[in-house]
Amino acid sequence: MSIAENEIRKFEHGNCAENNVFYQAMEEVIYSIAPLLESDDKYIRFGILDRLVVPDRIIKFKVTWLNDDNQVQVNTGYRVQFNNALGPYKGGLRFHPSVNEGILKFLGFEQILKNSLTGLPIGGAKGGSDFDPKGKSDFEVMKFCTAFMTELHKYIGPRIDVPAGDIGVGAREIGYLFGEYKKITSSYEGALTGKPYFFGGSLMRPEATGYGVVYFTQSMLEIENKEPLEGKICTVSGAGNVALHVIEKLQEIGATVVTCSDSHGTVYDPRGIDLALVKELKSNRSTSLEAYVQTHTEAKYTPVSEYPEGEHVVWNVPCYAAFPCATQNELYEADARNLIENGCVSVSEGANMPSTPNAIALLQSHKVCFAPAKAANAGGVAVSEFEMSQNASMSKWSYEKVNFKLQETMQMICKRVALTAKDYGVEGNYVDGANIAGFKKVADAMIAEGI
Ligand code: NDP
Repeated sequence: MSIAENEIRKFEHGNCAENNVFYQAMEEVIYSIAPLLESDDKYIRFGILDRLVVPDRIIKFKVTWLNDDNQVQVNTGYRVQFNNALGPYKGGLRFHPSVNEGILKFLGFEQILKNSLTGLPIGGAKGGSDFDPKGKSDFEVMKFCTAFMTELHKYIGPRIDVPAGDIGVGAREIGYLFGEYKKITSSYEGALTGKPYFFGGSLMRPEATGYGVVYFTQSMLEIENKEPLEGKICTVSGAGNVALHVIEKLQEIGATVVTCSDSHGTVYDPRGIDLALVKELKSNRSTSLEAYVQTHTEAKYTPVSEYPEGEHVVWNVPCYAAFPCATQNELYEADARNLIENGCVSVSEGANMPSTPNAIALLQSHKVCFAPAKAANAGGVAVSEFEMSQNASMSKWSYEKVNFKLQETMQMICKRVALTAKDYGVEGNYVDGANIAGFKKVADAMIAEGI
């Protein structure tokens, strides 16, 4: 049995359905880093994997709040503080009915390696709640955020743990959370990132993840001697923060984006997505993309109920480059086959773990350039760290400075991932390159810091 198989076996005990995505992420990493484990036995001797796959702590708490009808509502809140070998815990908060401990463990585990790849001093964490902001009034969202922070504030701080946004948590939620943190602690400090610009946020934080995905893809295509994105057809899934900014940057550099989607369905517009309209439709969180075709009759809307079994219609549209940017496990093996048959050259993950392991294996076996989330979407957390730096020094960076540093960071990550893959005999495999490079830095810090 190989070292990787042996390690995976140890962690299979006590698995439950809720933990499936976590085990999926963990197995991918362990198989991926096998060349590193085999080249140096110190990672096994120091029990790094045993230590890394268990969060430092999981904080789980009750969130009680009153809705607009003065009825008592109860949700569950979480913060998974996974690893702080490289710096304070750092990772987003997700508010979505699907949130549970397993999903947050998966996201927190991925965050450790992602944050390590940025080269910045930040550890890994994730948190959130099963609260659904959709259909709630502003006042209800505020009351929920206030109640959530009443508990969470005990565990966070600029040198301890700095949460940010994720699905369902944008500038509005971060504003309410920050306001409550400030009130409880009487301290105006950068304990959260993703704040609106006028009270401590960084320029470009909203754009950072999406723009970063495009910067990474440009670098990857250059390294792999492929044609650039300019003038090419691209497909994007999602219509949230990440997807909208991927579309915006792609359009800015002259690519044509022909799809976007949400949890109800997909829009295909062969003339190119009307971004202003999608932003307008999605600014009301309850509006479906279906309204798009009312004013754009050349476009087609397909509701989820009409997707072929086991497929997502976005990935059946011919494209040069594909960008899954909605959520985990939204690009399956059948989708990968469709992309390959339609001549797709690159797939870049804007969302966390949107592609299933079989889909990734198929894409890689057909030499499709594949940019994994932990490298490609690290731009968001990188600019979050820039926000922490600005808050700590009470300064404000210009848009040009943030954009320059974001671009530099994404190019650095891409080169490092490509070089690491080459060094460990898996040239062109950005999944293995990212896992090995991210893991090695954290693991070396853990060894240096003792048990
Ligand atoms: P948003 O909440 O802004 O948007 C999420 C998008 O995905 C929406 O279009 C939503 O549709 C859709 N979606 C959510 N859940 C599902 C589902 N189960 N099935 C189909 N569609 C779904 O989130 P973000 O754009 O911020 O995040 C998207 C992804 O990117 C997530 O995986 C997140 O972890 C990752 N990410 C985000 C970062 C950031 O800076 N925001 C940083 C790094 C990673 P609808 O509008 O109908 O709900």
